[in-house]
Amino acid sequence: PTAVMWFRRDLRLADNPALLEAVADGPVLPLFVLDPALWRPAGPSRRAYLGASLRALDSALRQRRTRLSVVRGDPVRRVVLAAREVGATRVHVAADFGPYGARRDAAVEEALAEHGIELVRTGSPYAVAPGRVTSGSGEPYKVYTPFSRAWAEHGWRAPVEAPSGGSWLELEKDTTEIPDPALPPGLELPEAGEAAARRTWQDFLDRVGDYEGERDRPDLDTTSRMSTHLRWGEIHPRTMLADLARLRSDGAATYRKEIAWREFFADVLAARPETAREYLRPEYARMRYDEPDAQLTAWQRGRTGFPIVDAGMRQLRATGWMHNRVRMIVASFLVKDLHLEWQHGARHFMHWLVDGDLASNQQNWQWAAGSGVDAAPYFRVFNPTTQGRKFDARGDYVRRWVPELAEVADPHDPSAEDREASGYPEAIVDHAAERREALDRWEEIR
Ligand code: FAD
Repeated sequence: PTAVMWFRRDLRLADNPALLEAVADGPVLPLFVLDPALWRPAGPSRRAYLGASLRALDSALRQRRTRLSVVRGDPVRRVVLAAREVGATRVHVAADFGPYGARRDAAVEEALAEHGIELVRTGSPYAVAPGRVTSGSGEPYKVYTPFSRAWAEHGWRAPVEAPSGGSWLELEKDTTEIPDPALPPGLELPEAGEAAARRTWQDFLDRVGDYEGERDRPDLDTTSRMSTHLRWGEIHPRTMLADLARLRSDGAATYRKEIAWREFFADVLAARPETAREYLRPEYARMRYDEPDAQLTAWQRGRTGFPIVDAGMRQLRATGWMHNRVRMIVASFLVKDLHLEWQHGARHFMHWLVDGDLASNQQNWQWAAGSGVDAAPYFRVFNPTTQGRKFDARGDYVRRWVPELAEVADPHDPSAEDREASGYPEAIVDHAAERREALDRWEEIR
């Protein structure tokens, strides 16, 4: 029999158990479906990165004398057509636990079944698939620490190699080119693909010892930058966890905990899919929020007049990525200084982030808004100026992303004259007043 390997967010050949299953069936069609439902809302950085990642997968397949067959349209129709064209009896995927992906897969499964074709799910984008780790009473965890303990105890399989042989098929009908959208000026993205993911990871492993002490410093390039590679499945977390297990440093232990956060948030979203849009703690829906206006636009464009906030928002637009500490600061600012609902910020992030992942993004936003699982206590309101001074002490991060402030003596608190001379905006709000306002509104729902 022949089989289809339907790639989605697992754009790699190594440590891909679904691909091994497909190869074990017989000749395999490597397929990618450009789904308008996912493509349309993606911003230029996400689109460009996906295109580059697909080209990297295609060249890896070309080394095996085949190619990636790409089709455009609704997967329910497209996957059935592709499977029938090559006479496949099984379509292999890594299971998707996101709200859209799970629904899509159920619909594809049903449509395939009408033609006697089976959808086979093997593995997932996680070391432990969402839903597998439950508390003593069989419930999903609501707090990170016990989850991470149970997750580690649950364990995961060892990484597997890329298939060594295999025979391959290609589609003849209705295929489309891999998209190659032009990057808007000023946008620079990291290299995409499995080989780049491996290099980035190996390079980080040499520095993982410094991770513990320096990961909160946006001015230093000390985090792994693996989120984008993980998002598109150019590497599997199992591969990374196996490498970390060979190291004994505090940095490696801390890094493992960050991977566990990713898995925790995926578990939460799978258990509560409605929290991609709705408040996980319903009382927060009753809070008074403001309607989005020019302040939201100022936040999006990096023109709030708060240097660390603006640096982060500009880094996002220029690179499709933002440092975690700064993501926390800009999220707090949107919710607690501008009194906007977290969904406005989450949508902007998903549009621009190349690592934009519904589980990590929405749950982190809920965390910042006080409404999520294991959330930051609402009354702890970040002061953007002191956060900037603490984590970007020399101001290098602000100077880099807000060049107007490059020559200013204290880039975290530019004077009125500095602002006037450099064209840097006045602060759009008074932080102390908005902090009091946020706490008042919070008191109303307690
Ligand atoms: P490292 O510090 O090297 O961390 C290693 C890996 O651990 C990351 O690649 C990531 O997979 C995981 N990780 C670390 N912190 C978190 C966290 N808080 N939650 C979940 N996983 C984590 N991460 C995304 O991958 N996609 C998102 O869309 C996303 N949106 C976010 C939105 C907000 C408001 C906040 C506060 C955080 C968000 N994060 C998101 C988490 C975190 O900021 C990024 O994973 C991290 O900055 C990626 O850079 P890195 O790979 O160099 O991180």
